[in-house]
Amino acid sequence: MEIVGSRRKSLLPPAGNAAPTIPLYRSAPELEVRLEDFELYAVHRLRVLKGISDALSRGKKPNEMENVVKELLKVHMSHPEASQVMNKDIISHFVLRLVYCREEELRKWFLSMETTLFRYRFLLETSEAQIALMAEFDLPYKTITNAEYENVKDKLNKVARSMNSSADTIYYKVITNFLSSLLSSSFILLRKVQVPFEKVPDLVARREVFIMKGYAYVPRNQVLSLLVTHYRSNLSKALVLTNRKWTSMIREQEKDRLTPIVEALSTSYLGPDYSQPKDFGEISLRDIDQIARSSFPLCMRYLFEKLKEDHHLKHGGRMQLGLFLKGVGLKLDDALAFWKSEFSKKVGAERFDKEYAYGIRHNYGKEGKRTDYTPYSCQKIISSTPGVGDHHGCPYRHLREENLRAALNNMGVANRALEDVMDKVRNKHYQLACTLTFEAVHGASCDQGINHPNQYYSDSKTILESRNNSKGT
Ligand code: SF4
Repeated sequence: MEIVGSRRKSLLPPAGNAAPTIPLYRSAPELEVRLEDFELYAVHRLRVLKGISDALSRGKKPNEMENVVKELLKVHMSHPEASQVMNKDIISHFVLRLVYCREEELRKWFLSMETTLFRYRFLLETSEAQIALMAEFDLPYKTITNAEYENVKDKLNKVARSMNSSADTIYYKVITNFLSSLLSSSFILLRKVQVPFEKVPDLVARREVFIMKGYAYVPRNQVLSLLVTHYRSNLSKALVLTNRKWTSMIREQEKDRLTPIVEALSTSYLGPDYSQPKDFGEISLRDIDQIARSSFPLCMRYLFEKLKEDHHLKHGGRMQLGLFLKGVGLKLDDALAFWKSEFSKKVGAERFDKEYAYGIRHNYGKEGKRTDYTPYSCQKIISSTPGVGDHHGCPYRHLREENLRAALNNMGVANRALEDVMDKVRNKHYQLACTLTFEAVHGASCDQGINHPNQYYSDSKTILESRNNSKGT
């Protein structure tokens, strides 16, 4: 894949043939990609993978997942030119391979989300497209003979009945080269396919397959399990190879062009911009304590309380809380007064003016390069690693269990809701833990999940203000 100009060719197969519409991403395509498409397509695919990850963590069932994936693809992976949809699909996959090949944790996440995406995309396909895709896999499994089939027929039917399937759905017409002729033939010979059973771990784990002498007899309607296993294993190997190429060659060769984009993509925040207070205007110093109690997410509430307790916060905490407060509408003069009132209790007003006021003006773009800094997203906060005595970061990730339970209790989260939050924390779903906290505190659902502390604040204010308004009418 060459990243240069705007010349484009379509990777669509010639019209007329029944062709698979899901690429298997076996090798990077030979086409030129504009730098802006390189990044944009990757961001779009990332939104799909993140959407899948959120839906899975929220416990969506397989039939709900089908709709989730369908919607995510429709919203993010379409293209104004139909001929470019496949290009976008392939380019975005290969860019994210570069992004996610670089660490074990990233590889695991990407592998799992791409495999899930493949599974549901397959289910959304027509049966013709499914069969065409099976053929693409070129599975090295042979069909059993009629005589073999007669030998095991009763047992296969028994398995089918135990799974509440009718006997004939268990037949799997395969041998990739014969698929199209089988499809068009008026007389279809139905046979079982036999595969080494370690290739169908899902089916074996769910006891949904007949196994004899080390072979699993896979019904056609469950062949997806096989394809998913192959897909996963191919992608896993490819990610390891991409990582080698990245480390030995690409990172250095592309250090001025692709490397910064690739490195930024793995922690990029994909939601709205919260650098300016939009929805609720300014907040005043008079109200700040009450607003912190009602509408701050735990990370900011924790920093706020630590500041009140210690009259000091280290640099990381000052940045995290300071930019959040700027985003929720605290004006520069009020921000200076707020920080000074706390810090001067510990370091004195003079030292505050000399050492700390500059940093606050800097956050508001009034010093140095005059950059208007943006409040941190959850992703950025969660990935930060506070040192000893620092209080920034995401409490769901960094607080000890007993302290986290106490902090949540303080927010009014108890009993079943508290256990649900702790369950998400144990599974390292910190943003979901925060979403469940939001829902418990506000008694309202938060379907899009929490992705940014300022979104938590903004959603909270929306709920509280609409309640106040309905009381007033
Ligand atoms: Fe803050 Fe986000 Fe962590 Fe919630 S999930 S506490 S908003 S960083």
